[in-house]
Order: sequence, then structure tokens, then C-alpha cells
Amino acid sequence: MTDDVLSKVPTDLFIGGTWRAASEGGRFDVTDPATGEVIAQVADGSAEDGLAAVTAAAEAGPAWATTPPRQRAEILRKAWQLMTDRADEIATLISLENGKALVDAKGEATYAAEFFRWYAEETVRMDGMVTTAPSGANRILVVHQPVGVCVLVTPWNFPAAMATRKMGPALGAGCTLVLKPASDTPLTALLMAQILDDAGVPPGVINVVPARRSGEVVAAMVNDDRVRKLSFTGSTEVGRTLLKLAADSIVNTSMELGGNAPFLVFADADIDAAIEGAMIAKMRNGGEACTAANRFYVEESVAEEFARKLSDKMGAMKVGPGTADGTQVGPLVNEAAVRKCDELVTGALAAGARALIGGKVPERTGWYYDPTVLVDVPADAEILKEEIFGPVAPIVTFTSEDEAVRFANDTEFGLVAYLYTGDLARGLRVSEALESGMVGLNRGLVSDPAAPFGGVKQSGIGREGGHEGLLDYTESKYIAVTW
Ligand code: NAD
Repeated sequence: MTDDVLSKVPTDLFIGGTWRAASEGGRFDVTDPATGEVIAQVADGSAEDGLAAVTAAAEAGPAWATTPPRQRAEILRKAWQLMTDRADEIATLISLENGKALVDAKGEATYAAEFFRWYAEETVRMDGMVTTAPSGANRILVVHQPVGVCVLVTPWNFPAAMATRKMGPALGAGCTLVLKPASDTPLTALLMAQILDDAGVPPGVINVVPARRSGEVVAAMVNDDRVRKLSFTGSTEVGRTLLKLAADSIVNTSMELGGNAPFLVFADADIDAAIEGAMIAKMRNGGEACTAANRFYVEESVAEEFARKLSDKMGAMKVGPGTADGTQVGPLVNEAAVRKCDELVTGALAAGARALIGGKVPERTGWYYDPTVLVDVPADAEILKEEIFGPVAPIVTFTSEDEAVRFANDTEFGLVAYLYTGDLARGLRVSEALESGMVGLNRGLVSDPAAPFGGVKQSGIGREGGHEGLLDYTESKYIAVTW
């Protein structure tokens, strides 16, 4: 299947409804993290290509904004259907360029498609508001209008879902767009463009420009007055740079940035359920998720049992190439990702932590890191401060609810937090005290197209998913009326 999938995937830029080579003629390699082999060469967009895409999006804007919502919705629904029909092919492609196990890639393909179905449903429910001014002198009318041309920048860890989570609501709201996918995983984004084209999205409404010189290409587009929104998913570091860039032209921004999710386990929790949740929160995508549990805080009396059971489960996982039968943990995305995991684990071990399983880079071809569980991790270890983005679970013990909440909130990030407890009052009390945009209460998975996804503190600005995700691509217009 892999050769078949690769032979069909487009590798050029998609601008104005046509596939074209990059203006400077360049191409860049896409590699399979399981082997290091080049699997495709993709057109390397330039600033000029980015601006050509903005022109196409700007020209297509007025007609798309006034296309009846039902018609936009039907196209999104069709895109969901096509993605669902082609889920195996999409999953294989994700696995090939990103490395994740096919089982995770299939989950992503389904999740990604759901954004199209959800926003097909939301597109026809864009309610405005009418009310009487407190003075009684006039009516207050509020309508939601598409924000305009959007530049969407996405990461490599969910190459399909992070793109559809932006494109679905943008298209539903009546915006046109240019997508700049991550250079490690441009193929999935190009396949998404083909699917949207097949679903009937008119030329110019979506444009995809892979580019190795991301900074240059994105800056050229965001500095163009015709662009009215920048939606970014990626690291906090790059998000900070892009917020500064957006300040110059006062572009509307949405930022889905890094996380450092705490996973709290209280002694009154169902420990087996907590292990099950931990396996999802930690090991989905091999730990390469912004929502990945990054730090485990476990009440002292159950810490040994939790660590032992987690080690048993993580240690039994089958590691191998993402597309191979039975693989549960694929390689990390690239060499730098392996190096980062290794440095964080080595640092923790030097600071006094013990590895119950793993703790090293395995000797095999490809960018692998062994599933690792660390105990006796000092509360100030570097590994608790940074996104690990790999299959590593550091465990710290706590002795009181206050201490658990203090540990959890001791970070500049605030995307998601997880907690397990058998006491619902405690669960809700702690959920409210946690400084995060999302909480998994007795659950290891929060992502849902129907729910507002996003972070507080340095994890981001804005929400994707749910009805809020649609409003994020609109401006509210207030009309004061006397009648
Ligand atoms: P990254 O910030 O390195 O790159 C993200 C995107 O930005 C890529 O397309 C990249 O090419 C582009 N980019 C890089 N430098 C740029 C620049 N100077 N100007 C414009 N664009 C630039 O992130 P990554 O390594 O691809 O992804 C991992 C990060 O994404 C992690 O921090 C993870 O937590 C975060 N993430 C967040 C969410 C969320 O919803 N909050 C979801 C997934 C991933």
C-alpha cells in the first residue's frame, strides 16, 4: 500500500485551484523517520509563491463569503465523506511521513475528518443577535462576518487534524485561506487540498504552500494588507515570533502553542482506570502531542503501584516502523526529537531519577526512543519544565491536594491537565484550580471537534473546535438601528 499511496500524492504547490512548481524551481526532501529514506520531493514555496497564493485567496474571497451557508456546508460534508472513504490511505501517508504507528494515524484520520463534518453542521448555525439598547432608543444588531483571507500555519505532529481543525471552520465561516504545513510533513496537507478540491471547493478558496524557508514565506504573507488572520499551531517560541510579526499589521491571531500537561492521580482514584488514561494521555502518537501528559504527580501511598503498572504497560508496547503490523509506538519525527528526549532523560537521571524501564536511545535504524518510566524525579528537574514530546513518563509524588495543585500550576504553560480521583467534589474543585484551558477529569483524552480546544498562559490565545472555533474566523459587526 505504501508505494501506491506515495505514487498518488501530489507534491506541487496548490494555488488558485491548480498544481504548480515553486517559482524558484526548488524542491525539498520528505523522509520516512523509520528508515531515514527520502520518500518524496516537494515543491519548496518562496515568498513570491506565498503572495501568489494570497492573491488567489483574495480574489476568491467575495464569492466564497457570499456562497450560501448550506452550499459551503455541503462541500464540507462531502470532504468528510471523501476523507472517511480514503481513511486508510490518509493514515498510511501520515504514518510514512510522521512516523506514528498506523493505529494512531488511523485515529488521526478519523479525528481530522470529523472537523469537516462538525463544521458542515455549524456553518448553517451562525446565529447573530438582536436586542434593544438599554435606553430604548434603538436596536442593537450583531452579525458575524468572515474575517477574510487567512494564513494557517501547522505543525508536523498531527499533519491532517491540525490542518482540518483550521480549514473546516475557516471555510464554514466563509473565509479563503493559504495553508503553510510543516516541512517534515507536507504530503498530508497536499492530499487534504486534493480532497477539498474533489469535494467542490472553488479555485483559490484554499491554497497550500509548503516551504522550507517558513519564516520568510509566512512573514511576506502576514505583512500583506489583504491577509486578515493568522492562525498558528506550533511551539510557543515560534508563536511568540509570529505574534510580534502580526503586531505590525494588526492581524487577527489565534495561537495554539506548546503544553506541559500535568497528570494527577489521587489515592482515592481507580488506579487501573488511571493507568488506562495515562496510556492514552502519554502514549498516543508516541508522546508527540501538545496534549501529552508530560509530568505525572501521584499521591505517595499509590505511587509505587502506579509506577509499576505503568511500566508494565509501557514496557510491553511493540516499538517499530509506524506502518508495520502490530506497531504501537513508531519512531519520533526526526533526529533532533530523539536528541531532545535523550538529553532530558539523561539530565533527570543525573539529578537522581531512576529509570524503571527504558532510559536510552535504542540501537536501531530510524529515530527511535524506548518507552521510559522515571521515578524519584526531583520536583525541580528540567524534564518537568519542558515538553518532552516522546514516550517518557517522569513520576513525582505528592502528599496533599494543595501540593498537587501547586506542582501542576508551576509552569508557564496551561494547555491541558488530567486528574484521576474517585471523589467528584474534589475532581471539580481541582479542575477549577488548575491553570489550563482544558481538563481531563477521569479521562486521558480531551480532544473533540465539538469542544473548544486551547490553552491559557503561554499555551495560546483563542479556541479551535466547537462553536467558538467557527466564531474565531469571524468578526462581529454591530449595527445600531432605529426603526
Ligand atoms: P514549530 O513551532 O517548530 O513549527 C510549527 C510550524 O511553524 C511549522 O509549519 C513550521 O514550519 C513553522 N515555522 C517555524 N518557524 C517559523 C517562523 N519563524 N515563521 C513562520 N513559521 C514558522 O512546531 P513543531 O515542531 O512543528 O510542532 C510541535 C509544537 O507544536 C509543540 O510545541 C506542540 O506542543 C505544538 N502543538 C500545539 C498544539 C495545540 O493545539 N496547542 C497542537 C499540536 C502541536
